[in-house]
Amino acid sequence: MADDAPVRYDTPEDEVFIRWQWQDAKLGRMTCECGHQMPLRFAYRCYFCHAYFCSDCAPVHFGKTRAEWQAKKDTANTGAQDDEAGH
Ligand SMILES: [Zn+2]
Ligand SMILES: [Zn+2]
Repeated sequence: MADDAPVRYDTPEDEVFIRWQWQDAKLGRMTCECGHQMPLRFAYRCYFCHAYFCSDCAPVHFGKTRAEWQAKKDTANTGAQDDEAGH
């Protein structure tokens, strides 16, 4: 698992923004795109675009709240059919 796997950015502006967030991360803090600042450990990182978000913006960006995610997970466990986008 390479830590520096290539990241695909939608726009050059995205790359600039995310690189700026990574500078923040080195200092142990994070600033969300909404301007909210928090300690890094409270920030949520998107698996896909590698940007960090606060707890308000993360559900919006991810398209799901934790509660919804948990509900889906529970359904998947009982239903046993939700095969992780398999190989
Ligand atoms: Zn994302
Ligand atoms: Zn935010």
